[in-house]
Amino acid sequence: EAAARRVEELVRLVPDFPEPGVLFRDITPLLADGDAFAQVCAALAVQAGGPVDLVAGMEARGFLLAAPIAVHLGAGLIPVRKAGKLPGPLASESYSLEYGDATIELHPSTIPAGARVLVVDDVLATGGTAAATIRLVERCGATVVGLSFLVEIEALAGRAQLAGHAVHALVSVP
Ligand code: 5GP
Repeated sequence: EAAARRVEELVRLVPDFPEPGVLFRDITPLLADGDAFAQVCAALAVQAGGPVDLVAGMEARGFLLAAPIAVHLGAGLIPVRKAGKLPGPLASESYSLEYGDATIELHPSTIPAGARVLVVDDVLATGGTAAATIRLVERCGATVVGLSFLVEIEALAGRAQLAGHAVHALVSVP
């Protein structure tokens, strides 16, 4: 579809960033193209497939997509932040990275029990960030109605960590 083509055209591949051996997907050219940005946000919003109360976006690039998608859907926004950025009271979840751990946090007081939450990020890699976000949302008694990404890197098998959830990506790469 058209939005997928815009992602293929405008997400730049950067070898060896932020470290050797990583092929980084840089979304800044897509963000800078007004038509393409609107088109992909609209396409990600449609993937929700039903009513959404809140859109959760992961720091930092997830914020850039989640905010316009939330406005598009008439939903609220939940910034899912790296540890230490939000004042309490907080809910936290940790997950493993290749080297060490990461922790993400949100304000549970902003997620009512029963809320329908769409989770949005730019890239689905190993799925650790998205799986931790699901755990945070579910701890609040809310429901993850779907997860939407610009790009899914199939080789990293992130989808396997998100079993039982509706996972959408505009573009899947091997
Ligand atoms: P995961 O937890 O699925 O391994 O990693 C996903 C997180 O890392 C997302 O928040 C995503 O923004 C970031 N990420 C991993 N690889 C890339 C990449 O190639 N490009 C971009 N833009 N972000 C990436």
